[in-house]
Amino acid sequence: MYNFSPGPAILAKSVSDEIANHFSDALPGLSILEISHRSGEYETIHNSAIRRCRSLYGLPDDMEVLLVGGGASLQFAMVPINLLRQSNSADYIETGSWSQKALSEAVCLGKTVRVAGSSADRDFCYIPGLEALSLDEAADYVHVTSNNTIIGTQFRVFPDTNDVPKVVDMTSDLFSRPVSWEGIGLAYGGTQKNAGIAGCTVVFVRRDLLSRETNSTPAILRYSTFSDSNSLYNTPPVFSVYVLNLTLEWLELTGGLEAAAIRNERKAKALYDVIDRYDSVFRGYSDSAARSYMNVTFDLSDREQSKHFSNAAAKQGFLGIEGHRSIGGYRASLYNGMPLEGCEALAEFMRDFALEQ
Ligand code: PMP
Repeated sequence: MYNFSPGPAILAKSVSDEIANHFSDALPGLSILEISHRSGEYETIHNSAIRRCRSLYGLPDDMEVLLVGGGASLQFAMVPINLLRQSNSADYIETGSWSQKALSEAVCLGKTVRVAGSSADRDFCYIPGLEALSLDEAADYVHVTSNNTIIGTQFRVFPDTNDVPKVVDMTSDLFSRPVSWEGIGLAYGGTQKNAGIAGCTVVFVRRDLLSRETNSTPAILRYSTFSDSNSLYNTPPVFSVYVLNLTLEWLELTGGLEAAAIRNERKAKALYDVIDRYDSVFRGYSDSAARSYMNVTFDLSDREQSKHFSNAAAKQGFLGIEGHRSIGGYRASLYNGMPLEGCEALAEFMRDFALEQ
């Protein structure tokens, strides 16, 4: 069985084995779920996860790692609450529904935002180039969605925003490739796709941006609360942090993010090659230049065949390949835990299907 679910998603085999075999004695005689988050045993895991976040990404010294609950969606609100000053505005690049949700939370808070670029004119199947953006040099930040999980597009490089800090939603490509941190003021990503299970969001924030906060912000919504307490202000999502730490350890042992990026690109290529080769049968959603290495989206040219394709795929053990309910079709999510052999098996199945047509 191969699980192509968009998240929560497949874990690396050695990570799920480790959880299954050792979670109840993650600590001598005790499971991680049953001890205080103030205990030295938990703190060791917590600190090791933070240290690994930093070292895997080669994070600059002026940035901090925070572990926050509430899902990536909470960051849609925490970002404008903490970084967008009442007298100013922020730019958002609209590349799909997650970016729209991020923007609408800022609007909901009564903040001023601009759409500095959009691919809505072609149903988000491309990434707007730098020349298509109208960036405001005085903006408090520019919000970018690194990988668009639903439509299957991904920024290869983030736009140059000069001195305006970029805020990047990395939820669906967190720890899947190295990142150049130049110009990034804050980045966030839920761990449920590439870095473990649901419940924890990793936030990387440049220290100087913490000073924009106001006293009227509730403590639990301030980045400085997490920064001042080593992300132990209140009870952290302990099990998610435990799985995050195991996943990051596995990433270290398998060659770090450079090696992960090579694996992820190869996995995606196996599927895109079949889509391109049999383009009378399959129709990729996104433009080639914008294709995601995380979520490969496509449909059948003959939708009458969808039932047959879905049934045959399920029978062969390919799970979670249905497209998002808003666009239909198919989506194979190839996060870190998915082995190359899973993608090759799906590619072979698709090729056989095409040859039958
Ligand atoms: N941003 C992106 C790009 C996503 O793919 C998702 C979830 N699929 C979210 C944000 C929201 O994440 P969460 O469910 O953790 O709030």
